[in-house]
Amino acid sequence: MPAKVDMDKIVSLCKRRGLIFPSSEIYGGLASCWDYGPMGVELKRNVRDAWWKSIVHERADVVGLDTSIMMHPGVWAASGHIDSFTDPLVECKSCHLRWRADAVEGKGCPKCGGELTEPRMFNLMFKTSMGPVEEEASTVYLRPETAQGIFVNFDNVITTSRKKLPLGIAQIGKSFRNEITPGNFIFRTREFEHMELEYFVKPGTDEKWLDYWVKERFDWYVKLGIRKENLRLRQHGKDELAHYARDCYDIDYLFPMGWSELEGIANRGDFDLIQHAKHSGKELGYYDAEAGEKYVPYVIEPSAGVDRSVLAFLIDAYDEEEVEGEKRTLLHLHRSLAPVKVAVLPLSRNEKLTPLAKEVFNKLCPNFVTDYDDSQSIGRRYRRQDEIGTPFCVTIDFESLEDKQVTIRERDSLAQIRVPIEELGKSLEAKLKGEAFDASPLWATRDK
Ligand code: ATP
Repeated sequence: MPAKVDMDKIVSLCKRRGLIFPSSEIYGGLASCWDYGPMGVELKRNVRDAWWKSIVHERADVVGLDTSIMMHPGVWAASGHIDSFTDPLVECKSCHLRWRADAVEGKGCPKCGGELTEPRMFNLMFKTSMGPVEEEASTVYLRPETAQGIFVNFDNVITTSRKKLPLGIAQIGKSFRNEITPGNFIFRTREFEHMELEYFVKPGTDEKWLDYWVKERFDWYVKLGIRKENLRLRQHGKDELAHYARDCYDIDYLFPMGWSELEGIANRGDFDLIQHAKHSGKELGYYDAEAGEKYVPYVIEPSAGVDRSVLAFLIDAYDEEEVEGEKRTLLHLHRSLAPVKVAVLPLSRNEKLTPLAKEVFNKLCPNFVTDYDDSQSIGRRYRRQDEIGTPFCVTIDFESLEDKQVTIRERDSLAQIRVPIEELGKSLEAKLKGEAFDASPLWATRDK
């Protein structure tokens, strides 16, 4: 059962409202590459920040890291990516389109029905060369995950952070995979952003920590507004586990094309540290002073995609409703994710209203991402803010000049309250933190 929203509506809204554009569009675009526009860059940043806050800043047992995209090629030999980071590829003998063999239903080419070649293993890593001479010795890879940058820094972090196990190391950054069949908008692209945590634990406690992180990560999406019924957990079967994994769960989301992976949470055991110790010749272990023993930690890895999360948040927030006979499209984005928190809207572009409206804007913008818009009718401007999910609009009208009060309009309920300009900042701050919008009958009027 696919989600109620179709992808075309999301793609069209993203283009129309400056969230996401096709990459290099004036040159005709580049397959499955996308650019985040003025609203998209804020949304994406908010998703990253929400993850970093809950994983790093709100915990004493996790630290952050930012490692380079290009690494010593030995890293990828040790991790198994050179040998095993492959997908089975088949090619159509008539139209020459290439497909991931495990994603083809039936025997023929999904496009033209033509005969397919036998599958061959295709490595998904992008290869390039470092320095001015192109030769085998200078081959480097663009990282297909950020995790390996964490493993090779395990010893640096342990010795400098003075932390004890269990200890997590978190990283957000770009990854690259030469996917055979990218698509579904930003769901699967060849360049994307990972949010990864490697949580190092004492062997024997790993199963408990895997359960813990599965629950934590599931709840994170729910807390940020994704409906529980659109999320599910799926444990990998033994035959499906990656070469490094002892156990793994996917958090799936009900995307328009059906249930698909949003995040993977794996128990990687001691595979990575042992491999890197073997290949680098450097000992990678942990001395547990309390227990007086030395061991190689196991690692639990919640690995999520920023772009795929952005897509899920957009789909889940998308809504169309009828208000007084007119269709209203809106994004019920969680306040912390909304690209713009407050829009300052003078009732009209009028020389008397503008100075006060600008004054209000200048007061708010150091504290909240604030938009100022005085073009077109007020109704149209409300609709525009609804479509990008702005939680609050502040309207300045002619009465404001007299009573120094403005109207705050709430996105979802359309309720309005009037507050003194003096109180506006404090009032918005409280409401953005989750304080209920006082929509008592005295205040509440729906906007026209
Ligand atoms: P899939 O089975 O969809 O190819 P995966 O299991 O290989 O994904 P992981 O290596 O577990 O993915 O990566 C963790 C997360 O990174 C995924 O759940 C997804 O959110 C994101 N991700 C992985 N590959 C891509 C991609 N090509 N485009 C966008 N996001 C991706």
